[in-house]
Amino acid sequence: MTAPSAHPILRARGVTKRFGKFTAVQDVNLLVARNTIHSVIGPNGAGKTTLFHTLTGTLPATTGTIEFDGVDVTALADHQRVRHGIARSFQVTSLFPSLDVRENLRLAAQGVHRLGAADGWWPPTGARARREAIDEILERMGLGRVDHLAAGTLSHGQQRRLEVGMALAARPKAIFLDEPTSGMGVDDIDAMKALIYGLRGDHTVVLIEHNMGIVMDISDTITVMQQGQVLVEGKPDEIRNDARVRSAYLGNMITGGAA
Ligand code: ADP
Ligand code: MG
Repeated sequence: MTAPSAHPILRARGVTKRFGKFTAVQDVNLLVARNTIHSVIGPNGAGKTTLFHTLTGTLPATTGTIEFDGVDVTALADHQRVRHGIARSFQVTSLFPSLDVRENLRLAAQGVHRLGAADGWWPPTGARARREAIDEILERMGLGRVDHLAAGTLSHGQQRRLEVGMALAARPKAIFLDEPTSGMGVDDIDAMKALIYGLRGDHTVVLIEHNMGIVMDISDTITVMQQGQVLVEGKPDEIRNDARVRSAYLGNMITGGAA
C-alpha cells in the first residue's frame, strides 16, 4: 500500500450546483487523498454525476471552490483542468469508431480530442515517448491484441476500457470514472475492477460505481451522497456498518454484495 500524502490532491469546499431552482448538489466538502481510490456512492439522483461535472469542469459550480494539486481550478473550463492533471473517462460516443484503437489513443494523447492532453504536455522527444506510453496503456487496458482493430468493432467491455485508456493518455494525476462498469457482463466487470485497482498508487482515482462488491473491495475512502449532500464518509468497513447508509439504500444493497 502506498501511504496517502498528507496533502489532498483535491479539495472541494462548499460546492453547490443548482439547475434553476433545483439544487442538485448542496454544500459538498470533499478531500481526496493522493494516489488513493475514492468512491462516491448513493442512490440514483443523489447528485454524484453532477458533483463530478463540477469537479472536472464540465459544468461550473454555482458556489464553492475546487482546488486541485494546490491550484484553484474553480473558474477553469474542463480542457484547462486537463492541463492541471484532471481527466475523466471519455464516453463510448466520443471514440472515433472507424479509427483503430491505437489511433484513438494517439489522438487522445496528442490533444486532438477536445478533452485530450494539452499541446506541450509531452516533451519534444514526443513521438517515441508517446508510442511507449500508448503501448503501456494498451497493456494495462488489456487491449494489446486488438490495437489494430477499429474502435467501433470492439465489444462493449473493450470500448469502455478504451475510454479509460484515452483518459490516461492525457497523463492525468487524477482520473474520474463515472460508472465504468455499467452495462457490462461479469467478465468485463472483473477486468475493469482489476484495471482500476491497478491505477491506484500512481494515479488518484475518483470513482462513481454502483456495484458495491467493487466499491467495498477497492476503495480507500467512500463518500455516500443522498439528495445532493454528503451523508457520510469513511473506509469501506465503516460504510458497510453505518446505519444511515443502510437506511439510505432501503435494504441490503450494501451488505448483499453486488447491486
Ligand atoms: P446521480 O448521478 O447521483 O444519479 P445526477 O447528478 O445525475 O445524480 O442528478 C442529480 C439530480 O439533478 C437529479 O434529480 C437530476 O434529475 C438533476 N439534474 C441533473 N442534471 C440536470 C440538468 N442538466 N438540469 C436539471 N436537472 C438536472
Ligand atoms: Mg450518475
